[in-house]
Amino acid sequence: MRKVVVIGGVAGGMSAAARLRRLDPTARITVVEQGAEVSFANCGLPYYVSGEIPSRADLLLHSPESLARTLGLEVRVHTRATEIDRAAQTVTVERGGDIQVLRYDALVLAPGAYAVRPPIPGLDHPRVHTLRTVPDADTMRALATSGATKAVVLGAGFIGLEAAEALTHAGLQVAVIEAAPHVLPMVDPEIAWYVRDALNRHGVAVHEGVAATQIDDVDGRPQVTLSDGATIDADLVVLSVGVRPRSELAAAAGLSVTEHGAIVVDEHQRTSDPHIWAVGDASASIHAITGATGPVALATPANRGGRVAADSIMGVGRPAPKPLGTAIVRVFDTAVGMTGASRRSLEQSGRDFHTARTHSGHHAGYYPGAETMHLLLHFAPDGQILGAQGVGKEGIDKRIDVIATGARAGLRADDLVDLDLSYAPPFGAAKDPVMMLGMIADNVLVGGLRQHDPVDPLDPDTTFVLDVRNQPEWDRGHLRGATLIPQPLVARSIDQIRDLANGRPVAVHCASGFRSYLATRTLMGAGIPAANVSGGFMTLAVTQPDGVES
Ligand code: FAD
Repeated sequence: MRKVVVIGGVAGGMSAAARLRRLDPTARITVVEQGAEVSFANCGLPYYVSGEIPSRADLLLHSPESLARTLGLEVRVHTRATEIDRAAQTVTVERGGDIQVLRYDALVLAPGAYAVRPPIPGLDHPRVHTLRTVPDADTMRALATSGATKAVVLGAGFIGLEAAEALTHAGLQVAVIEAAPHVLPMVDPEIAWYVRDALNRHGVAVHEGVAATQIDDVDGRPQVTLSDGATIDADLVVLSVGVRPRSELAAAAGLSVTEHGAIVVDEHQRTSDPHIWAVGDASASIHAITGATGPVALATPANRGGRVAADSIMGVGRPAPKPLGTAIVRVFDTAVGMTGASRRSLEQSGRDFHTARTHSGHHAGYYPGAETMHLLLHFAPDGQILGAQGVGKEGIDKRIDVIATGARAGLRADDLVDLDLSYAPPFGAAKDPVMMLGMIADNVLVGGLRQHDPVDPLDPDTTFVLDVRNQPEWDRGHLRGATLIPQPLVARSIDQIRDLANGRPVAVHCASGFRSYLATRTLMGAGIPAANVSGGFMTLAVTQPDGVES
């Protein structure tokens, strides 16, 4: 009988154990979990804190008893693995001072990650909490429902923002502190702008580009000092500045780990020891786009990795795909999603890329209730889809998932125009925003359209900025130094534009990029060097707000 030990009984570990049972009805599968709960919904914790998930029991998907009954798994909670002896193929486990040694033929490491604890004096204040476990959520919910009125969230990543939203829902006044220049540092600044806006609209104070430097105790409550000298009083501080792989057991056993401590695995989740597999937040994978090696701390790759590891133990199955890091988070009324690489990671990896942007309704504009969604698509000069991001109130999940699917399938950016997507007015548009991104990519890659990236400043000394919107749009706000010639008039204003440009290249923009595309084509046809400003004024107003006047 095959003996399998799994360390860690939540996302990756339990996926591996359950899959193994399905493949091998006779194996002895032992799962050790140091916490009180197994197979709990860690992704649901913020919604329990907010009260949206009313019952704690809803977070607990299984118990040791239900797993023994339904899958024949031996699940030991409150049991911590303390040592791996690779030569003897044993794991030492400890429960309440009781030590046991478990023999294995195959060992799966799924210990997850630690919350990063930066060296901030006072971080050990009893009102500073992380949000990683059910007891963490219990504590936070108890504080939120027993008179706490103010919270500070350190870190504006996915979990930090979910915590900020949850505590606001629970009635607290929340401040979010982010040391990076903007919230959600993993997305591009122009997308993060809408997230900050959503936070502000819902009463969350956002401090970007500043770090917490100290936490003091003032009458039993934490007071957070920021690097800009400001102080914020709170009843509760949520620490959410990132995670690091929990890999010390693996490292002590001599398994290969990366310089940042993630356990090195092959495409079948096998570690440097042929009898040991590792999955989830503790393991390293190679990013599908940037090639960077590191953990992708998300539930889908953890679950997928568990299945891949189980298959590999049984000598069957497919290799794990390289993750794209597809993710989505809700921030009040706004959803923000991403897949693949961001601008920053592309720049860091030295990739050459174009960006297509749209600001379209999530369904047909003439059907009531269309919400604007802001999408961008990074793509390589050879057409490879490198990354996409979107923010808006509706339909972001569908668009990001379609693009992620296209990227996984190896579609080129311009192939997106050929997608055969479902459409009726309440759901989308005959030209879906994803197809529009494909059209822009096609115009750039095949049609020779030059774009000006609105992230790069538009300097009137070197560039003639032509605004082709109409007068009322101009009056509401325009770029300083720009010239207004509405798009229908461009064809008959060629000589005037040539004179005004006076040898400078022309950057053409409208509100979102379509009318300016028409005008750019007209200018190109007349032999004037012209580029369409990608995303138009809606993007410029976010990327170059100082250049806007009305
Ligand atoms: P975990 O699921 O964390 O499980 C690891 C377990 O191992 C832990 O229970 C730990 O106690 C146990 N363990 C560690 N060491 C030992 C030891 N020595 N002995 C015994 N047991 C041990 N991802 C998304 O994709 N979408 C989301 O919306 C999302 N929301 C999240 C919200 C929150 C609040 C949190 C905390 C995470 C969220 N994630 C989300 C991330 C996702 O939950 C993780 O990526 C995923 O759970 C990782 O799976 P894992 O098996 O590696 O680790």
